[in-house]
Amino acid sequence: MARYRGSVCRLCRRENLKMFLKGDRCFSDKCAFDRRSYAPGQHGQRRTKFSGFGQQLREKQKVKRMYGLSEKQFRLFFKKADRQRGITGTNLLVLLERRLDNVVYRLGFVNSRTQGRHFVKHNHFLVNGKKVNIPSYLIKTEDVVEIREKSRKVQCITDALSAVVRRGIPPWIELDKEGYKGMVKGVPAREDITMPIQEQLIVELYSK
Ligand code: SF4
Repeated sequence: MARYRGSVCRLCRRENLKMFLKGDRCFSDKCAFDRRSYAPGQHGQRRTKFSGFGQQLREKQKVKRMYGLSEKQFRLFFKKADRQRGITGTNLLVLLERRLDNVVYRLGFVNSRTQGRHFVKHNHFLVNGKKVNIPSYLIKTEDVVEIREKSRKVQCITDALSAVVRRGIPPWIELDKEGYKGMVKGVPAREDITMPIQEQLIVELYSK
């Protein structure tokens, strides 16, 4: 599947938002967004006024890039959210938050969602004691996500865990750092997702 392989910092600059896609670097003074908080490219510093469609498109691209999904994967999540009861935009964000690659990132087991996806695929985590290597696996209430015994000494994981305080843990999950595991207390509520997202714009875009 086609995956973006360019500079992820360009994505933050394009979406005009610090999306924390690069782990430790995002908290250092090397962050490209802090250094040059304008869009990349020759005309990046020009003032851009987006049309209604432009705003919707940018919002969709922002969320898609934040969670590291392809257009096809993102659309599938949207369809799933649309089939559920309630507000489609909120359903979409909650579904994205429940992805296993996001949950291991939120728990501080990895430094970024990209690393989370990579480590999930390489069998570093257990869900309720069983190996799960599907990054899009949806976590449910009371699930326990654990780092496999063998993987607890992997440098990237120990580094990420030692930096977890800096990032903070969202209220819908609970980390047991000494036990190398985390418990899902409940599905996230809309107010638990604190990144500035206007999900109704995505719903409007896909409802055309
Ligand atoms: Fe975005 Fe992180 Fe790059 Fe900064 S360092 S621009 S937050 S990915």
